[in-house]
Amino acid sequence: MKITSIKGMHDITEPESFAWRYAENLIKKQFEDFGFTEVRTPIVEYTQLFTRSVGEVTDIVQKEMYSFLDKNEESLSLRPEGTAPVVRALIEKNLLSHDPIQKLFYLGPMFRYERPQKGRQRQFYQYGFEVFGVAQPRQDAECVFMLVDLYEKLGLKNLSVSISSVGCPKCRPQYLEKLVKALSAQKSKLSEDSQKRLEKNPLRILDSKSPQDKEIVSKMPVMLEHLCSECEIHFEAFKNDLKTLNVNFNVNKNLVRGIDYYKRTVFEITSSSLGAQDAIGGGGRYDSLVEELGGPSTPAIGYAGGMERLIMLMDQDFEKYRPNLKYFFVTPDEKGAEKAFLLASKLRQKGVKVEIDHSGRSMKSQMKRADRLKAEKVAILGGSELEKGIVLVRDMATKQQTEVSFEDLLK
Ligand code: AMP
Repeated sequence: MKITSIKGMHDITEPESFAWRYAENLIKKQFEDFGFTEVRTPIVEYTQLFTRSVGEVTDIVQKEMYSFLDKNEESLSLRPEGTAPVVRALIEKNLLSHDPIQKLFYLGPMFRYERPQKGRQRQFYQYGFEVFGVAQPRQDAECVFMLVDLYEKLGLKNLSVSISSVGCPKCRPQYLEKLVKALSAQKSKLSEDSQKRLEKNPLRILDSKSPQDKEIVSKMPVMLEHLCSECEIHFEAFKNDLKTLNVNFNVNKNLVRGIDYYKRTVFEITSSSLGAQDAIGGGGRYDSLVEELGGPSTPAIGYAGGMERLIMLMDQDFEKYRPNLKYFFVTPDEKGAEKAFLLASKLRQKGVKVEIDHSGRSMKSQMKRADRLKAEKVAILGGSELEKGIVLVRDMATKQQTEVSFEDLLK
């Protein structure tokens, strides 16, 4: 029986992997240019980390976690998201005592037991970042700017940035009370899912995709109109700072993020080119999570985006992202092959990207492979070239051939 990969978990091979590599390099450079450093956390954590941070009543914790008991009967989970592990590491390694401002980024696989569809896998990759120790709205605006600029560098089009505020522990409870009251009056008209959410996670109803819910939601009180004065000031300043940086955005009153810990700023970046799963990524401020996980009270803001969806939005001519191959050695006979083997290895020691075929296949098949690998130049080295002490270098674009001495080639 043939063994296949697990449903919703995919291999990424060339030429798609070229696009992944290209995007990952750009993402890392962008984050580093904005002052972030990389953090790598384990893929498996104690289940409790996620139930306590992401929240008991979220979809992630209730139905999507890959949880299992290890040999020691401890409940572990494959990480469904990156923020909780980063916060755990921040606290465990006491990073804030070295520098009260920590700017960390990550990139790696996440796991959620969801129904696989286009743009939704069970193993997917997220890149994300967290800023700890800065409460000012200017930080929020800079994060959004960094992302929009990154997406432009990656060639993405049709982007929109939605922002909102979900209030804080001071103003949210009063608003929630009002919302639940208003929703309860319409309970029988809500979708079945939303009826369940009414008790456990009423904010999620605002995010419902069901048409019947949308109709009701459009008439509900909105958080943005119930912000306390501090939240109001923060939101106004955030918008002004975005304008200063010329970032286009729209205010989406019903933007709620699926995770419990958000406070004040929330934002989402979408693309109309994606279809039903249109979110490129989302983030927000979560000023109380560090404390809730046992660390010092620390303001924070973070974001996570999906790699698969990003790749779907890049130029689909993936060959474009193939790393440049400088030389392909073609060896018509064994005499030339030995010398070519030596020259290729020396060039590689110097950091030049070179390919050579040791299979002893015909010159024609070697040339074909050089073509397929899009070599910039082919270096032909057979017995007759060896006698002359040269390699025949053919430029694959111009088809021009020149004789180059071994010394010059290595230079
Ligand atoms: P979330 O952590 O749910 O806010 O997701 C952040 C981003 O990760 C989303 O906007 C998507 O781009 C991506 N994402 C989330 N879940 C999946 C999934 N199951 N498959 C692929 N991408 C995902």
